[in-house]
Amino acid sequence: METERIGETVQETINLTPGFSRPLMDWYQVHHRDLPFRRDREPYHIWVSEIMAQQTRIEAMVQYYDRFMTLFPTVQDLAAADEDTLHRAWQGLGYYSRVRNLQKAAQIVAREGMPRSKKELQTLPGIGPYTAGAIASISFGQKAAAVDGNVLRVFARLYNIREDVMKPAVKRKIETRVLDAMIEPYGDFNQAIMELGALVCTPGTPDCAGCPVNQWCLAGDPASLPVLPEKKRKTEEKKTFLVYTDGQRIHLEKRPAKGLLAGLYGFPEGAVPEDLTGIHALPGYDHVFTHKIWHISGWLVPVDEGTLPEMYTPEEIEAGMAVPTAFQPLYKAACSLLAEGTIGRQPDSVNTPG
Ligand code: SF4
Repeated sequence: METERIGETVQETINLTPGFSRPLMDWYQVHHRDLPFRRDREPYHIWVSEIMAQQTRIEAMVQYYDRFMTLFPTVQDLAAADEDTLHRAWQGLGYYSRVRNLQKAAQIVAREGMPRSKKELQTLPGIGPYTAGAIASISFGQKAAAVDGNVLRVFARLYNIREDVMKPAVKRKIETRVLDAMIEPYGDFNQAIMELGALVCTPGTPDCAGCPVNQWCLAGDPASLPVLPEKKRKTEEKKTFLVYTDGQRIHLEKRPAKGLLAGLYGFPEGAVPEDLTGIHALPGYDHVFTHKIWHISGWLVPVDEGTLPEMYTPEEIEAGMAVPTAFQPLYKAACSLLAEGTIGRQPDSVNTPG
């Protein structure tokens, strides 16, 4: 309780900031990881890193972040990039719609400048409340919450919230708690919660003994929190892809502009060839997307030179074509067989593409 003198009257005000805010910030100053995108507060850097971090572990994304910034050092460079270079820069990160939205937003920012408030930032393609809150607080020092899965978990535990954290009303409740707890610099505070969630208050069993906010935490059984909705079962599909080769080069086709893996390079789908002479089975594998699983099999099919127009050497592919992770095992297996130098069309033994 604090006492304030206003004119002749004495007024009591309640300090709403919970006791854990300062210890959390002190802990963050000492323990935060040294990450390239945290070395400055440049909005473009914070923005790209937050979009990348949405589906990728922070440690794994550092190399991708560095590569991206080398290719597109400014928002203008990103705005002007051609589609293939853009996809290539995102290769390995998956969920390519993120980078397409990033570019659409960059084109707006290059024309009109970077908005500063959380509300305005959310009008840009691909920027939701979390990313907008992160940019507004870290780059512009605004009091804006940035609530992602880490923050939901930490706050559900701190306040022992035993409701489904994905429900909008529960998210709003947590956002209010975060805003109440925020102390300056607000950007650091948001990052402190995220860092606590990544390093201490981790999914599963957290390290409560080493936690700087332990004495304020109300969670009786932290491993059981947060409460999440039941996961939907992923749909499963069998896929057979044909990797055509003339012995030196590989056929790749650009996928349609809409749908899964849109605009990226892949192999055509086809049936298992009837005549297997001269054809090589490639090792099968599963590829897991957000909502579906592909059970993939593939065949390396020799064809005559000139049969297909879109044939590329591995050097050409690796220099500038984005082959998504879903196709990489097929691509790598095909390259290994080509490197052995034994693949080539054998007369009367090849199924030509239909
Ligand atoms: S005490 Fe444990 S459950 Fe509570 S915030 Fe810290 S790590 Fe998370």
